[in-house]
Amino acid sequence: MAVCSECGYVEDMALTGHQQDPQACPRCGSTSTRDTGNHLPIVELTRVTAAVRRDEALISDRSDERRQVWFGIVPAVDVDPAEVAEQWYVKGYDFGVKYLRRMTLRWLNLGEQSAFGQKRRIAGTDTVAPLFRVCTGCGCRDQAARSNSRSEHRPWCPYRSSSDEHVEEIALSRTLRTQGAVIPLPVSVTTGDPFAIPSLSAALKLGLREQFGGAPDHIGVAEVPDPLGPDDGTRDALLLYDTVPGGTGYLAELTDPARVHDLIYRAWRKVAECPCRDEERLACHRCLLPLASGREIDRVSRQAAERHLRAILTAGRLDEPSAEGRWDVTVERPTINRSLSPLELRFAELYRSLLEELNGTVQLVPGTWGNTIRANVGPRRWTLEPQVNVLGSKPDFVLRSDDTNVPPVAVFTDGLAFHASVDINRLADDAGKRSALVEAGYLVLSVTAADVSTEEERREQGRETVTPPAWFNEQLAGAISNEGGFQTGDFAMVAGGPFDFLRRWIRAPYPGAQRKMADHLPMMLALSGAATQGQVPAGQDPVEQARRIVQGGAPGLGVGETVPAWWWHTGPLVVLSRVIGDEMVEVVSMVDDRPTSVGVAGFPDAWRDWLTIANGLQGRGWPTTITTLERVRSSAHVADAPSAPRPTIRVEVFTSDWQTVLDDALDDERSLAAELAHAGLRAPDATGDEVGDTGIPAMFVWAAEHVAVLSDLVAEDVDDLRTQGWTVVGPEAAGITAALGGSAADRTDNEGEETH
Ligand SMILES: [Zn+2]
Ligand SMILES: [Zn+2]
Ligand SMILES: [Zn+2]
Repeated sequence: MAVCSECGYVEDMALTGHQQDPQACPRCGSTSTRDTGNHLPIVELTRVTAAVRRDEALISDRSDERRQVWFGIVPAVDVDPAEVAEQWYVKGYDFGVKYLRRMTLRWLNLGEQSAFGQKRRIAGTDTVAPLFRVCTGCGCRDQAARSNSRSEHRPWCPYRSSSDEHVEEIALSRTLRTQGAVIPLPVSVTTGDPFAIPSLSAALKLGLREQFGGAPDHIGVAEVPDPLGPDDGTRDALLLYDTVPGGTGYLAELTDPARVHDLIYRAWRKVAECPCRDEERLACHRCLLPLASGREIDRVSRQAAERHLRAILTAGRLDEPSAEGRWDVTVERPTINRSLSPLELRFAELYRSLLEELNGTVQLVPGTWGNTIRANVGPRRWTLEPQVNVLGSKPDFVLRSDDTNVPPVAVFTDGLAFHASVDINRLADDAGKRSALVEAGYLVLSVTAADVSTEEERREQGRETVTPPAWFNEQLAGAISNEGGFQTGDFAMVAGGPFDFLRRWIRAPYPGAQRKMADHLPMMLALSGAATQGQVPAGQDPVEQARRIVQGGAPGLGVGETVPAWWWHTGPLVVLSRVIGDEMVEVVSMVDDRPTSVGVAGFPDAWRDWLTIANGLQGRGWPTTITTLERVRSSAHVADAPSAPRPTIRVEVFTSDWQTVLDDALDDERSLAAELAHAGLRAPDATGDEVGDTGIPAMFVWAAEHVAVLSDLVAEDVDDLRTQGWTVVGPEAAGITAALGGSAADRTDNEGEETH
């Protein structure tokens, strides 16, 4: 028999005459049925022997997304389209029911558990399949290879006394012909979540029990691949099958979507309300545990079931399910595009692979919004938590270390379709979101769909690195890093992309190295010849200069002093760098995100470069602005009024002194600190210290200037300090700047709105 590697199709080659040349699998299109490794002599068991107990199947930890069964009993269901009596699907969501009035379910026993047996892929499962060695004369098990003994045969066997062995390797099968319902699971539910299928499998049984008013003993649940047709492969599904041969007709009720909604709703209510939600455990005896298959017990999670059932009930919208809720259904099977599996799930999957590459020990903790991934790598412990609310934004993930010297990394996975298309242009909003996080000391990592597919390809092809962006030059990277006092590898953020950066970060999370690289990154554009060299007026706002370039003009004709500058202008993107002071390089990266521009062919590349450069400029110590044309244009209206404060359109990166202050600042101090840093003042020498003889608590203290900032100007304290020679001011930027003698004057000019 030829058994498909991907689905449960089994071809009897003797019957079909395909012995010499079996065709591709008619169910899923896999060509594995031609592979002799998948040609197995299968012997049907008419009675169940002690050796065949399907619950001996051992599901190991994940390896890629394939399941590995160490004791090879694999369920193989042949889903014959001709036997599908009825099917329905939720519109726009890949969930539904395919009811089979007849189907063949085989449990294939592929031999005893052994680390050394030949590996095969059978019916979508990677398994060790040493098979059984039996005598061709009498069918008895061959106990010891390469020797024959009379006790291994039946009395009538012709080979009983033979000096040679007459053995054949076979697989055993137990076959049930019955009725079944294939329930395909949404890719967005199963991707990268090892808890999903075992938890939903148990939850489905729970729903049946609730609906049935007791355990429906004659209904079994198996995890099987659902073949989608010769051109479309398979996807994960659960199979409900009638254990009574021929079937009882019970499962035909699932052709009614309302009935299935009710079943899933009951299961969801039960898991959502189970008291174990407040206990530190995956699931309990009151909800899913009694329904879990023994080997998967550590993969059955109440929270995972609750989350995925909610997603299914609401067709992915995740709003509140209701008992009366109904799906909008269709009989057309929705086309499944795997690359549309949510980007954040694919990111989490790659992150886990990355931890494995780094020999990390990984633990998954199910949560309301997805799994938190904990890992120990070297001396540090890392936590990647999904959907965390921070500072008014909700990054897809926040990566933290238990090493307090390591700043948190906020990860945004940005599908182009979501964030930058004519319909939904959120780039300007994104730029604002990032700036708040950067001000609070986060590293912000943008991960695009292209980054994710590039990393997926790299892993598939077993390559070490990904191709760097066209503007990145390896030789120059060596020279620039030498000059800047960092390592070439610190260019990982731009050269290797987000995953290469994370690999390096988790091994050696040194913000200092990233900062040096970020400071020097503009040199890459200058030296590679990609940029146009020139002089720009020193007194003019560089954001304005970038705006002129991106709109097709010259950077601006100025009066007075000019400074060396270079700008890389490619399609809707401009990166303008200019020298300020003796040593510093100021950068403005601006993408033209006007609706007319977002639709053009070159936009996706420009957008990706803009994000890569934004990633690369993280942690910069020198003035840096990451913005969009729409953002600048919208804030220009505000800036027209001379007295209006300058809108915060900058992703401001502070000096390390200020960064320390910001890190230590209390919530009500942070915005003031950011404002002072932005104004270019020197960072205070102390935060939250006591000053004066009587120890009056001050927000910020500049010791040399004898300036203290008090949150409340209590007259008594103020007088006290003044007599001791202090200048005392309230928590307000103008007063503080004045008290410090307007030392911010130079910087302020640089950022001024006025053009000379
Ligand atoms: Zn197949
Ligand atoms: Zn024999
Ligand atoms: Zn429970």
